[in-house]
Amino acid sequence: MIAVKAELPRALTQLSEEEALFQDSVRQFAADRIMPLVRAMDESQVFDSGLLRQLFELGLMGIEIPEEFGGAGGTFFEAILGVEAISAVDPSVGVLVDVQNTLCINALNRWATPAQKRRWLPRLAKDTVGAYALSEAASGSDAFALQTRATRCGDDYVLNGQKLWITNAKEAGLFIVFATVDPAAGYKGITAFVVEKGTPGFALGKKEDKLGIRASSTCELVFTDCVVGSDAVLGEIGKGYKIAIETLNEGRIGIGAQMLGLAQGAWNHAAKWAKQRKQFGKPLAEFQAMQFQLAEMATEIEMARLSVYNAARLKDNGSEFLKEAAMCKYIASQVAEKVASLAVEVFGGSGFVKDYPVEKLYRDAKIGKIYEGTSFMQLATIAKLVLG
Ligand SMILES: Cc1cc2nc3c(=O)[nH]c(=O)nc-3n(C[C@H](O)[C@H](O)[C@H](O)COP(=O)(O)OP(=O)(O)OC[C@H]3O[C@@H](n4cnc5c(N)ncnc54)[C@H](O)[C@@H]3O)c2cc1C
Repeated sequence: MIAVKAELPRALTQLSEEEALFQDSVRQFAADRIMPLVRAMDESQVFDSGLLRQLFELGLMGIEIPEEFGGAGGTFFEAILGVEAISAVDPSVGVLVDVQNTLCINALNRWATPAQKRRWLPRLAKDTVGAYALSEAASGSDAFALQTRATRCGDDYVLNGQKLWITNAKEAGLFIVFATVDPAAGYKGITAFVVEKGTPGFALGKKEDKLGIRASSTCELVFTDCVVGSDAVLGEIGKGYKIAIETLNEGRIGIGAQMLGLAQGAWNHAAKWAKQRKQFGKPLAEFQAMQFQLAEMATEIEMARLSVYNAARLKDNGSEFLKEAAMCKYIASQVAEKVASLAVEVFGGSGFVKDYPVEKLYRDAKIGKIYEGTSFMQLATIAKLVLG
């Protein structure tokens, strides 16, 4: 027998030199530039405009935009590393970067015509925030029951309806909006449009006052006889459902990364606290019960990380990743909620007040089980795939 030495695949958590450099620079940026703003942004529910500028300058708002359009020309995995590193400090900033990269830019990279790419991608790379508008009051989990109407009028389309819960709406200049051109056709009427801020007939409605990720804006969008040209159609008429399904499959990995980062951030705070805080004459970290709690949290974070990285690597190398994406979001959001809750307990009374960061991370964790498909919806997808 001849022994064949096959090249071993790299372990999921072993980063390439480029990935490691990128991760280090984002971590540094988050510690230096985001950390000092976290509490004020949470209290005021306003995203710092200077921070937004810096996110663009660092290339974090156009990670996968090709260099020819002014982007960083990076990979999906790098976007995931970026969202994770930022969310360890502030998941509100994490979701802004996530929606920009994993939903908006992804959709345009994949479905925009060359002319549309030349028109929108340089702006998204430079200074324009994107938002992704699918949900409505009556259509959340059942997203394709949406009622926003797009009526053909000559070469144009006239949009009428309302979107709810739209992340980044306050800061955004470009909105990917899903509407139906034919309600009788069901999901086959759904079409994606790119609508620019300031288009007559398009206005922001109520801004939500939220439990967590409060610096991230979440608003209603109102369309009243809003006219867009046929050059605003993304992909094909009646194929918007495909764009929604496929971008959300990818976006889910981004939310997994947001929740993974959050969990790691909460763990870091808890471990530091446990080493400093003394009771019964010694640091909390010297009690075995505390060590086991922190060890279990670290183990679950590792499980979430493997799951998120695996889904992202599968996506980058062109493999099927639907099941893994649903699983990683499901796992990471569970781990984030549990770890953030335990971190509050590790801090004791200090964990329950706003002077320390874990109180906010605990509030921020809840959204992971809700947006981009609730945990029940992830389980429904997983069940379909594993049971056939
Ligand atoms: C902060 C925030 C930001 C958001 N950002 C965006 C955004 O940028 N763009 C966007 O388009 N949307 C966004 N959303 C909307 C989000 O995706 C929806 O809230 C989510 O999909 C759930 O829909 P829903 O709120 O209508 O809940 P529902 O669909 O009404 O669900 C309520 C409950 O019923 C359960 N349920 C529903 N159907 C079933 C079923 N068949 N079997 C078992 N249980 C079921 C759900 O799991 C959930 O527990 C955001 C929401 C929030 C809160």
